[in-house]
Amino acid sequence: MPEVVKEGAQNKALPSHAKVVIIGGGVVGCSILFHLAKFGWKDAVLLERDELTSGSSWHAAGQIHTISSDPNISRLQSYTIGLYKEIEELSGHSVGLHMTGGFYLASNKTWHDYLKRERSKARYMGLHQEWISPKELAERHPLIDPKHYYAALWDDQDGDLDPSGTTYAFAKAARTFGAQYFTHTPATKTEQRADGTWDVTTPKGVINAEHVVNCGGLWAREVGHMGGLNLPVQPMEHHYLITEKIDEIANFGSRLPCGIDYEANIYFRQEREGMLLGTYEPVGVPWKVGGTPWDFGHELLQPNLDHIADRLELGFERIPALANAGIKDAINGPFTFGPDGNPMIGPVPGMTNYWCAVGVMAGFCQGGGVGLTMAEWMIDGEPSIDVWAMDVARFGKWATPDWGTVKSTENYERRFVMTFPNETLPKGRKQQTTALYDRLVAKGGRMGQAFGLEHVLWFADGPEDAHEEPTFERNRSHEYVAAECAAVREGVGGIEVANFAKHVIKGSGARAWLNKTMAGFIPKPGRMTLTPMLTEKGRLYGDLTVACLGEEHFMLFGSGAMQDAHSRFFAKTLPEGVTHANETESWHGIALSGPKSRTLLSRITREDVSAEGMAFRDCRQTFVGDVPVVLNRISFSGELGYEIYCRPQYLIRLAEAIEEAGADLGYRWYGNRALMSLRLEKGWGAWGLEFRPDFNAVEAGMDVFINWKKDFVGKAATEAARDQGVARKLVTLVIDTEIDVTLDEAVMVDGEAVGYITSGGYAHHVGKSMAMAYVAAEYAGAGTEFDVEILGEMKRAEVQGVPVYDANGANMRA
Ligand SMILES: Cc1cc2nc3c(=O)[nH]c(=O)nc-3n(C[C@H](O)[C@H](O)[C@H](O)COP(=O)(O)OP(=O)(O)OC[C@H]3O[C@@H](n4cnc5c(N)ncnc54)[C@H](O)[C@@H]3O)c2cc1C
Repeated sequence: MPEVVKEGAQNKALPSHAKVVIIGGGVVGCSILFHLAKFGWKDAVLLERDELTSGSSWHAAGQIHTISSDPNISRLQSYTIGLYKEIEELSGHSVGLHMTGGFYLASNKTWHDYLKRERSKARYMGLHQEWISPKELAERHPLIDPKHYYAALWDDQDGDLDPSGTTYAFAKAARTFGAQYFTHTPATKTEQRADGTWDVTTPKGVINAEHVVNCGGLWAREVGHMGGLNLPVQPMEHHYLITEKIDEIANFGSRLPCGIDYEANIYFRQEREGMLLGTYEPVGVPWKVGGTPWDFGHELLQPNLDHIADRLELGFERIPALANAGIKDAINGPFTFGPDGNPMIGPVPGMTNYWCAVGVMAGFCQGGGVGLTMAEWMIDGEPSIDVWAMDVARFGKWATPDWGTVKSTENYERRFVMTFPNETLPKGRKQQTTALYDRLVAKGGRMGQAFGLEHVLWFADGPEDAHEEPTFERNRSHEYVAAECAAVREGVGGIEVANFAKHVIKGSGARAWLNKTMAGFIPKPGRMTLTPMLTEKGRLYGDLTVACLGEEHFMLFGSGAMQDAHSRFFAKTLPEGVTHANETESWHGIALSGPKSRTLLSRITREDVSAEGMAFRDCRQTFVGDVPVVLNRISFSGELGYEIYCRPQYLIRLAEAIEEAGADLGYRWYGNRALMSLRLEKGWGAWGLEFRPDFNAVEAGMDVFINWKKDFVGKAATEAARDQGVARKLVTLVIDTEIDVTLDEAVMVDGEAVGYITSGGYAHHVGKSMAMAYVAAEYAGAGTEFDVEILGEMKRAEVQGVPVYDANGANMRA
């Protein structure tokens, strides 16, 4: 087990003011302190209630690797590992780094397919991953029995380190830039003053700080409570074993590589002359559900080897020398997980100058990247890459502490368990539902969950039929989705729109503020526009539909998942006299799409919805199906369509009216998978996939919606991108393949990655496999051909010049 480096408190007195106070001296807090000081915020102070590393950091296994489900997290993991030499040199404190390289081992086809996908991602991310043969595997690690494995992926950047030394190295390196840390100095209270600054109380005095950062690790929940915040994170028990000396290791001559065996659910590395073996057992044990005691110190938990016996057995089978080795130490220590396994970082929505970096479950792989991102965000106002996968704003108030415990436990258990692209995870479901939930489930709706809200993915023939068979290939929903797409293209279909965000902006200054905040045109009363919303640096931060319901009354529709992130963004600049309300939960509704949608609508409203009476992009407050609604003539399916928003209590009435009026028109419900297929054949990007802060409006083709004649946030950067040209562009592809893309596949020319896939699937109406991708600008022209790597095979793809369905939009505007 790594040794704990002890160091007494600094002698300096606690300052009365600081630019920022970081609460918690684990690896995460210390990395943030280092990055803030390095980038210029030297007046940064870290408070640690005990010695540094007094949470989970001191007893980590210290294994480091780059693979993550999210490419940007992988990038930041690669950055983290690259940083260790720097902090060691700056601090003069050893991090005990061993860059041994490591294997990812696949013992069945599923995991082999998974690794093929990872290998494809690594191509465009510039990570050094390569396949190695079973023979090489055994040569590099003679203790492994290669007969169990289909394939091994090797990564140069994997290895291990001393967790305690690393935490100290971050803290001491921070000090070289002028930052300070105080041990034995617990924060006992965080109170906000009227001017937005924070008073952080400790037994040694109060520090007034502009910003406060919760890096409480095992105590993240308790530190959150001090500021009135309930974080859905949960410490989990976790075991690893360290063996006695193993002669083969002692005699090997060099340090053995580390590794992960997914199916066996084990990770392993050399520790001195023995091995360290850890596992994420299938039934996770949440630790201290009610709260972490303040007197928990440098302690470990009672090991329960029976609980992990089946995993150990698999480990002993695959690394036979372990079976005969004595166990020197059995470690059971707690560490904190978030609901989806990724960190929760950034400015907390609804609070001012309150930040958190919690739920970092792989602090030694991710701590550096978290520190970098937090420092960029605090100092520059935005991170340099899209960190949505880590943004605290992806969990709203619906993510309650109980829900957090359930999901964090599920995530712990699934740490090395495959989640397929068509798989929806079972726990923490029905956290939020609409009034139509039971009705749609009874019709065979297979539900997914987004921002805690259930929505239909596709409709089976009935509830018993509504199940998935997880796969990387076309799944059993394929034919059902085809029928839904046909109904929309040929007749009329309806889909719930509760999961779109609705923001209401009101006031005499609303138009002026919107004009500055949105890059596009702000509509006149009764009209709607689509507009990009950009950051100061010109990155995409939203694609919003703005409806003008009155000169001082606007309703904005956007990504449901981004509703808190957008609220946070608006709050930064909202002036006196303009109000913003996130009314997402107060507006549910149904979108009608298809050539017969006007006929259906005209039967249930007195409003003139003829082509002349209600033109494309018109909006109004009226009555449909007997209930008060906001009615928008717009559609994401590319057909003639209407979005009908009502208050939740009217939703059943509206649905009944639609079903009755549409019966003879062949009305049917459709789900999100059909919608995504329909938008693909129109070549329309979606938020979180094609549109996100990694890209600017010119790269994304969103510049066509910009009003260049006005001043708007991000204008200078966007003009520069327009005038100087961009290095990559968003394109739509048709691919010659039987297995559709999902996400993140490499786009290749002559063996070189020139881009990557952002989304795709089967476009049912046109009968083609399609995708969207960002590619180097020279490959973005219509008709350009290249390869897309799907499950390890190169498939021919061609760039489309115009949408493959209804190229000029005549159907939608009919
Ligand atoms: C058994 C085990 C094995 C692991 N193996 C690995 C691995 O191989 N690789 C890897 O990357 N990660 C591993 N981890 C995870 C890793 O340890 C964590 O991700 C990391 O320690 C999280 O760091 P942190 O700074 O967020 O939290 P913590 O380490 O918990 O630090 C929080 C700190 O905040 C302090 N604090 C709390 N409240 C206050 C307050 N009010 N005032 C002042 N100070 C306060 C605490 O005393 C503590 O020092 C492992 C964890 C365990 C338990």
